[in-house]
Amino acid sequence: MYKVIVIGSGCAGLTAAIYAARADLKPLVLDGHEPGGQLSLTTMVENFPGFPDGILGPQFIENARKQAERFGAEFKSGAVTSVDLRQRPFKISVGNETLECEALIVASGASARTLGLPSERELLGHGLSTCATCDGYFFRDREIVVVGGGDSAMEEATFLTKFAKRVTILHRRNEFRASKIMLDRARENPKIRFMTPFTIDDLHDAATKNLHKITIRNTATGEVSELETEGVFLGIGHDPNTKIFLGQLDMDENGYLVVQHGSRTNVEGVFAAGDVHDHIYRQAITAAGAGCAAAIDAERFLAGHTA
Ligand code: NAP
Repeated sequence: MYKVIVIGSGCAGLTAAIYAARADLKPLVLDGHEPGGQLSLTTMVENFPGFPDGILGPQFIENARKQAERFGAEFKSGAVTSVDLRQRPFKISVGNETLECEALIVASGASARTLGLPSERELLGHGLSTCATCDGYFFRDREIVVVGGGDSAMEEATFLTKFAKRVTILHRRNEFRASKIMLDRARENPKIRFMTPFTIDDLHDAATKNLHKITIRNTATGEVSELETEGVFLGIGHDPNTKIFLGQLDMDENGYLVVQHGSRTNVEGVFAAGDVHDHIYRQAITAAGAGCAAAIDAERFLAGHTA
């Protein structure tokens, strides 16, 4: 029986673990299927206050994990397979094992959608990115491609024109899902050009970890060609990791958890932090802040409900 279990070991989960551990709650952190979260998939983090020279994402995560361990947080690898939140103690299953806790912090994050190409994993952080706010700065005066036809793609492309020489929006259909206002803004931007209907067949070159060219396919004619580019941003959406909470925790129409009064979910004693509920800011610093808030909320909840 744990006082607090934290699901997820990204920026939100690790910050929650540090705060809960320092409050002597001996939290257990369940690593999840993407240990370290999205920061562990990126390279340099330059916008987290306190690191004037930046810090590598995986290093940042390792430091935060050590910091949580130093104060008594325990870690367990594996992804949660089911939860029972109907009554306390809550039951959290990881494969065949069932763990119990008095309070639960859900920091299971959201995963950026990817194209499903084998080369993606190798090139993430090496020319391929899923976050314009995080990585745009590294693409000053470069030719870049943004993939997608929704609001994220329009927003990312518009943001990236601050840095890039030219941004090409590559979308698989001729019609756009984006709202008119965001689409018009992108269309009016002289640094943005549109290429439709195209998908990406491959990214080059995974072997040298240097993205310099992509193979594209015209979805109407089937014609395959190559396009030189120095960066590719995937703006094809995110999926919150909330499937295991379906029917138990309130979610919006896109599957993001709904929180009220800070980090509280609809189940008393269950708190949420980070990208699992925040589809607006999605930053390491906002996730860390949310993790801190969730731990404080859990601590106060437990103080009023001694087991
Ligand atoms: P989205 O609306 O689901 O759009 C995803 C886009 O990516 C679609 O155009 C889709 O193409 C394309 N796509 C998906 N999978 C793909 C694949 N495997 N290969 C190629 N293309 C693929 O996602 P979003 O743009 O992230 O927006 C999510 C929600 O957040 C929306 O409600 C949006 O309005 C909101 N949002 C709002 C703002 C804002 O107001 N500032 C900013 C960002 C997002 P198809 O169209 O062909 O399916």
